[in-house]
Amino acid sequence: MSKACQNYSASLRQAQADRRYLHIELIGFSPNGLIRVIRAIRAIRVLYLHSKINRKMKVMKFGGTSVGKPQRMKEVAKLITADEDRKIVVLSALSGTTNALVEISNLIAAGDRSEAKQKIWELEATYYQFVDDLLNDELLIAEAKKILAEHFEFLTIILKISFSEALNKDILAQGELLSTKLFCIYLEEQQIPHKLLPALDFMTLDNQDEPQIGTIKVKLSQLLTKHKDTPIFITQGYITKNAKGEVDNLKRGGSDFSASLIAAAINADVCEIWTDIDGMHNNDPRVVKTTRPIEQLSFEEAAELAYFGAKILHPASIWPAQFYNVPVKLLNTMEPSAKGTLITEQAGSTGVKAVAAKDNITAIKIKSSRMLLAYGFLRKVFEVFEKYKTSIDMITTSEVAVSVTIDNDIFLNEITRELEAYGTVEIDTNQSIVSIVGNEITETKEVMRKLFDAIHDVPVRMVSYGGSRHNISLLIPRSFKDQTLNALNTGLFGLE
Ligand code: ADP
Ligand code: ASP
Ligand code: MG
Repeated sequence: MSKACQNYSASLRQAQADRRYLHIELIGFSPNGLIRVIRAIRAIRVLYLHSKINRKMKVMKFGGTSVGKPQRMKEVAKLITADEDRKIVVLSALSGTTNALVEISNLIAAGDRSEAKQKIWELEATYYQFVDDLLNDELLIAEAKKILAEHFEFLTIILKISFSEALNKDILAQGELLSTKLFCIYLEEQQIPHKLLPALDFMTLDNQDEPQIGTIKVKLSQLLTKHKDTPIFITQGYITKNAKGEVDNLKRGGSDFSASLIAAAINADVCEIWTDIDGMHNNDPRVVKTTRPIEQLSFEEAAELAYFGAKILHPASIWPAQFYNVPVKLLNTMEPSAKGTLITEQAGSTGVKAVAAKDNITAIKIKSSRMLLAYGFLRKVFEVFEKYKTSIDMITTSEVAVSVTIDNDIFLNEITRELEAYGTVEIDTNQSIVSIVGNEITETKEVMRKLFDAIHDVPVRMVSYGGSRHNISLLIPRSFKDQTLNALNTGLFGLE
């Protein structure tokens, strides 16, 4: 039996013993005393039941690398049973799976079915090996392989159906469906009480593809009440139903968003994001060698970093936790005792905390000496972006031009064509936004001087300062990103 199960049964036994003790004490009491004791027993019973239902509830999300190897999955089982808190465990797909599914889907869309079939077989083989390494019990191995057969048969059948966007979403959902089912079988083997809560039973998007937090709240509350004695729930990150009732997803890296939405919906005590690094670092560790973890961030700071490219968090994953004031912790599955990063309303300290970068940015400049200062000109420009549901990240204006950046260029041709009605349009693709994030940084002395000293040889295309007190953003060509992040690591943090 796991430690959590043992603790759980021990506290149940203790509560039963307490009740027996009170019962024995009743014998031989006067009627008044008896009434008082009965009342006391009732009160204790209510308190006991109340503490059982309302005991701490948390969300623990494990990313792809945290479940990507059988040994890692076993470590996750230990982490989720390390305390007695009631919890919802959110899992991503095993690392590499969603990338493989994207590839398979693209091959099917391109009509290359034989290559898609080959990729499906390769992926299937890794899963059979995974099951053999994860489980010992023959019956459970057979059960797991039956699940694999069902999911891979589904992928093979898809090869024969004509491709559609809905089918693409079904393909992409297979990773999280598989990881959660395999994990539950492992928990069963370990006799850890749990329940699989299918995300498709409670996660929903509205017709603007925004999560319906109210509906998620109601549905989850019903499910939790229905299974009120279940200590551990397992669910899929990333996947959801959309407004049409089809399977959909929360975009790449979306399991963080799922976790935050669930934590907000159940008003969790904490939302733990377990990953492969010890918290949010001060710079992108994929680009800069000497980065260090940040102990504390405010929701605003974390949201800016996530939005402006810190891959550790999905860009939208902070707002649900922030809105419902649920603390978020970023923790390392490989090093569970490391402090990680705590994200709450409080920033902890002032000054620059971190730098992040977002790639694939397109800059659009509209030059119009005739119209720029005219009343209503900016509104007309923004309406074009609104029409094509394309959000703007940065904006700067001068007397004769306005420059904006976008990260979604699907409608770039249409947008350009419509903007040409207002002036000459210049497009720069392959740009990066580098954001410097911290608490009150625009009021912190020396930041601007250190910033521009560090990047004196970088061709900065746009600067955004003062839009928020937590962020200064620069637009630079993508080819200067690595140089810029490294120079800022030295210039702003003194790290070589
Ligand atoms: P998971 O699969 O657990 O969701 P991700 O790969 O999505 O993990 O996110 C963790 C990775 O984010 C780290 O391995 C790291 O390379 C990258 N990363 C980028 N920027 C940062 C940052 N500022 N701090 C920490 N990690 C970062
Ligand atoms: N599996 C999905 C992805 O790789 C979601 C996630 O990992 O958060 O994007
Ligand atoms: Mg991630």
